[in-house]
Amino acid sequence: MDADGKAAGPPVLVVDDEPDTRDGCQHILSRLGYPVFTAARGEEALRILEGQPIAIVLLDLKMPGLNGMEALRRIRRLNESILIIVITGYATLETAVEAMKLGAYDFIAKPFEPDALRIVVRRAHEKLRLTAEAEELDRQRRKTLTDLLTEKSRTRTIIESLPTGVVVTNAEGTVVLVNPSFFRHLGQVPDRPPGEPIERYVEEEGFCDLVRRIAGGRYGNPDEVPAYEFSPFEGKYLLARGRPIIGENGEGLGAVMTVSDISAIRALDQVKSEFVAEVSHELRSPLSTIHEQLALVIRDIAEGDYTGDLPILRRALEKTHELISLVGDLLDLSRIESGTAYLKPESLCLADILKNIVGFLGTNAEKRGQHLSLELAEDPLPPILADPFAVESIFGNLITNALKYTQDGGTIRVRARPRDGKVEVAVIDNGMGIERKNLGRIFDRFYRVKNERTRSIPGTGLGLPIVRELVGLLGGTIEVSSAPGRGSTFTVLLPAQPLAP
Ligand code: ADP
Repeated sequence: MDADGKAAGPPVLVVDDEPDTRDGCQHILSRLGYPVFTAARGEEALRILEGQPIAIVLLDLKMPGLNGMEALRRIRRLNESILIIVITGYATLETAVEAMKLGAYDFIAKPFEPDALRIVVRRAHEKLRLTAEAEELDRQRRKTLTDLLTEKSRTRTIIESLPTGVVVTNAEGTVVLVNPSFFRHLGQVPDRPPGEPIERYVEEEGFCDLVRRIAGGRYGNPDEVPAYEFSPFEGKYLLARGRPIIGENGEGLGAVMTVSDISAIRALDQVKSEFVAEVSHELRSPLSTIHEQLALVIRDIAEGDYTGDLPILRRALEKTHELISLVGDLLDLSRIESGTAYLKPESLCLADILKNIVGFLGTNAEKRGQHLSLELAEDPLPPILADPFAVESIFGNLITNALKYTQDGGTIRVRARPRDGKVEVAVIDNGMGIERKNLGRIFDRFYRVKNERTRSIPGTGLGLPIVRELVGLLGGTIEVSSAPGRGSTFTVLLPAQPLAP
């Protein structure tokens, strides 16, 4: 609306060579709220049209210069959406029809009453309004459609990129949607499009049965998420879960199934059960021996003959001692692995710790005529940041092993030196050494090299696994080199304490 309360209409151009008609039209239409432009000739009209956003043209067909019909043609060419109302001076039906054929919207015969002009312009105005409204509706419809399509493709992209396999079937068990992860979990190339029965995609009968049962609405309870586990090939374990799609009347419309890879969990389960089996095995044989030894002693007591019992009880005592250290090592290992032990790092001087251990174990070595020595480099060792008990456990284990697996009179050297900003400690013995084929296994839990010479040496097979875990915990590395009959060298590299900024 403008200031006078009139509806502001679209700009109108009046093209007529008669000044009275132009002025009359301008007067009437301006009062109705239309911005009005005027032109006396076709050429002038075209110029105005190029510069102004004219929506309605009142065009006199009988003008000097550019012929009215030709002007009409050119205006149409310029802008098809302009509505042209032709003014026919000597109203003949033929001219009007011809003009309409060329695309004129309406016509008005001269001379006309103001009311006739108002009606014809208002009609054109209304037509413009309706067209604009229809265009807006169409634009909105297209936008909604585009939004819907975008939403659809977004959902699709999400389903396609899910790491979980997804397959959706209709009530008959025909696949209607399937994502690439589904194929990948099954070890297949994701190239089979939807549209075929589920059996064509998955061989596993149990899985297909479940899909069909869910799709048929046989699991109506929403709290129930039926699951099925299967292995499509060696080493791969999948867990399928499903939900029915239920229609408005409670009928089964299909099934949505997800398939996740649970191979890692299964592998872990297997490691766990193997470990439990190993532990049970390790505990069982010393316990049976103790059991037999105690039974023997009890029998002797019953018979009143104790003469041979002391050595039996001593052996039983040794066995219980072994068991206690086995259980101790196991506890240690599990605490390290769960991250609950050796968590109090402090700045340590490794040389001092090594001196203590060597001093402590030196007494044992001497008893067996072994020579245990500590060689410290001239350059001082940089301090390390570590839990002191972890460091003691690492080198205590390595030096004890070196002493255990070296013959009486042998030599064990502990050499510590700075190396590339780290600290290197090597435990070098000239003992029995380790065969190449066994080297890769000595860090496995419970692994012990079994031969004539090691048979009588007590041990749990857990020392080196503990050492390896602890070295890893401290951010270091451990290496071993060995030659049977010549000796072994275990080299540990630990990071130095970072310098304070
Ligand atoms: P344990 O010493 O209790 O048997 P470890 O885990 O410490 O268990 O060691 C595993 C195995 O590695 C030992 O049984 C032994 O056969 C071998 N081993 C370890 N250290 C040495 C060494 N210095 N020389 C020769 N063999 C060794």
